[in-house]
Amino acid sequence: MPVAQQIKSQLTGSSWIRKMFEEGTRLKSIYGADNVYDFTLGNPGDEPPAAFGQALRELANEPIPGMHRYMSNAGYEETRAAIAEVLAEDSGQPVRANHVVMTVGAGGGLNVVFKAILDPGDEVIISAPYFVEYKFYVGNHGGTTTVVPSLPDFQLDLDAIAGAITAKTRAIIVNTPNNPTGVIYPAETLAALNQIVEQKSAELGRAIYVISDEPYAKISYDGVTVPPVLRYIKNSLLVTSHSKDLALPGERIGYIAANPAIADVGMLVEALVFCNRILGFVNAPALMQRLIAKLQRESVDIAAYQEKRDLLYHHLTSLGFEMVKPQGAFYLFPRSPLEDDIAFVQEAQKHNILLVPGSGFGQKGYFRIAYCVEKAMIERSLPAFTALAQSLGL
Ligand code: PLP
Repeated sequence: MPVAQQIKSQLTGSSWIRKMFEEGTRLKSIYGADNVYDFTLGNPGDEPPAAFGQALRELANEPIPGMHRYMSNAGYEETRAAIAEVLAEDSGQPVRANHVVMTVGAGGGLNVVFKAILDPGDEVIISAPYFVEYKFYVGNHGGTTTVVPSLPDFQLDLDAIAGAITAKTRAIIVNTPNNPTGVIYPAETLAALNQIVEQKSAELGRAIYVISDEPYAKISYDGVTVPPVLRYIKNSLLVTSHSKDLALPGERIGYIAANPAIADVGMLVEALVFCNRILGFVNAPALMQRLIAKLQRESVDIAAYQEKRDLLYHHLTSLGFEMVKPQGAFYLFPRSPLEDDIAFVQEAQKHNILLVPGSGFGQKGYFRIAYCVEKAMIERSLPAFTALAQSLGL
C-alpha cells in the first residue's frame, strides 16, 4: 500500500466539495460554462480591493532590502503590531504584537493551535454543521472531535456544549460567521460560553480554550457586526485569515491572536511560534505580511455580497425553500426539500445547478449554496432553481 491506512480511508470519504467540483467540470464540458451554475466552492470570485494592488505596486517600486529573507517564526513585528492595534481597538483588550502569530492562512493557523495545545486523546468540541476540515486538523495532532448539535436556528446549543465537556476536553471551536450556515453568534452567547468554560476549567483543573475561527468576520450584513471574541471570552484564541475579507485565499496569509488574559499567555505564544516552525510553515509568506499590515481596515465590497444574498434568499424562499436568513459569510444553508440531501443535490444537477449536501458538513437534510460567484451567474441560475422547485412539486 503506497499510503497510510488512515489517509486512505480519509481520502475516500473526505470531500463532497471536491466531488461536486469534478461533476461541475464534466457538466461544463457538455453544456458550456455559462449554462452550469456552480455554487460549490467558497472561493471568492471577486478581486482584492484596490488598496491591495496599490500596496503591491508601492512595494514593487520601492523594494525593502532583505524583504524575501527568513524572519522571526512569529512574523514581522510591524505586521503583528498593526494587527494588534486594530484588535485592541475593537475588543478593548490590551492586545500587543507579542500576542499575534502570523500563519499560512486560517487552516495553517488552526493546525498550529492544535499542535500547540493537544496531547494524544484530547478532545475538541465542534458544533454541527461544521467546516469539514476541523476533523482532519484535530486528528493531525492526535486529538479527537466531539460533535454536538446546534439549535434549530443554527445558534450554539450551550447546554449541549457544556454537557459534552469531559476531563479530556481541551478546546471548543466556534466559527462565526459560520460556514456553512452564515449565522453570527451574538455577544450574549459568547459571554455565556465564557462562563461555561471558566466554570468547567476550574472544576476540572485544566485549561479549556475557545478557538474562534473567523475568516468571515468582516463579511456581515444588515448592520450586524461580529462581536469581538477577545472581549467576551477570556481563554480565547482568535484564528483568521485574509482569504475571504481581502479575497486572497491563494496567498495563504492569516494569523492567530491569543487573548492577553490567558494564564501563561507568554508560554502559549512561544509554543505557537515553535509549532509554526516545526510544522514546516517556518513563517507566513513575507510579501503578504508587508501588504496586509496596511490593509487591516480594508475589505472586499460587502454590499455586493449582501445584494447576492438577497437575490438568492428572496428567490428561493418565494419558491418555497426554507432557510435561516444568514447575516454573514457568503453561504445559504436551506433545508433540503427531499429528506435525502444527496438525492436532492443529484436532482439539482439535472438542472445544471451544483450544490453541496449538508451531509458534507455533518448535517443531513440540508444543502449549501456558496454565493461568492458573479452576480450574472446567480441571475442566470434563477430560472433553473424555479424549474428544480417545480420538478419537486414545491
Ligand atoms: N475556516 C473556515 C470556516 C473556512 O470556511 C475556511 C475556508 O474556506 C477556512 C477556515 C480556511 O481558510 P484559509 O483559506 O485561510 O486557510
